[in-house]
Amino acid sequence: MHKLACPKCHEPLIQIGNSYKCVKGHCYDIAKSKYLNLLLNPDKATNNPGDSKESLIARKAYLTNGYYDIILNNVIDCIKRYRKGNKLNILDLGCGEGYYTCGLNKVFNQDTIYGLDISKEAINMATKYTKDVYWLVGNSKNLPFLNHSLDFITALFTVVNQDELKRTLKNEGYIIHVTANPNHLIEIKELIYDKIKVKSDKYIRLDFETIESYDLVHLIHIDNREDALNLLKMTPHYYHIKKERRNVLDTLEKLSVTIDIKITIYHI
Ligand SMILES: [Zn+2]
Repeated sequence: MHKLACPKCHEPLIQIGNSYKCVKGHCYDIAKSKYLNLLLNPDKATNNPGDSKESLIARKAYLTNGYYDIILNNVIDCIKRYRKGNKLNILDLGCGEGYYTCGLNKVFNQDTIYGLDISKEAINMATKYTKDVYWLVGNSKNLPFLNHSLDFITALFTVVNQDELKRTLKNEGYIIHVTANPNHLIEIKELIYDKIKVKSDKYIRLDFETIESYDLVHLIHIDNREDALNLLKMTPHYYHIKKERRNVLDTLEKLSVTIDIKITIYHI
């Protein structure tokens, strides 16, 4: 049984034919490609370059070649380590074009999996992987879920709203938060910038009880131009490249890059 709630009034949503309706009469139609648009005020959705269509296509091509499966597999192992019981409700927040969500769905096919992103374009692409996930266009500041209904929320490289995590997770619920360390993809930053800004990670710590936190460092080797360019295009760095540095891209044939991320499991 799904845990979807109306984004306007937070009453339960019930599927009636090709729509979802709440008791107050708010109605949301299922899109032809089988996703549900639960975003209010879509005009307010900012369109940042990382979510451009070009970036999404590059991301899909790169991820489906398995270069980041080590990240996916770590998230899967975290869920296996802490899960209790069956038929869990798992939300992949800010799921983008859905590669990781689809990976979770393959392993946890007895559970109910949701993938939510603010980009309609991204969610539309995600539906091509599988229709067996609740694909949702929605806002992380107003999650379309019932109070205390989710067992796990995974958040990979995405902004989260702590109040909404607290509201929607069960009392025994977990957040699996994946964030980039300063050295993540350092080789790409060296390629693109004259000077590299080192960001502190203090702003991305969440205010919940930390159960486990570890760094995952791994070197990946890309031996062809297409995959290397796709990796560049799925990062915001690509869109900041200066004219005088563009020639770097013309000669790019291979790339070794460092994955350096932090995986933190929080308990509510
Ligand atoms: Zn409603």
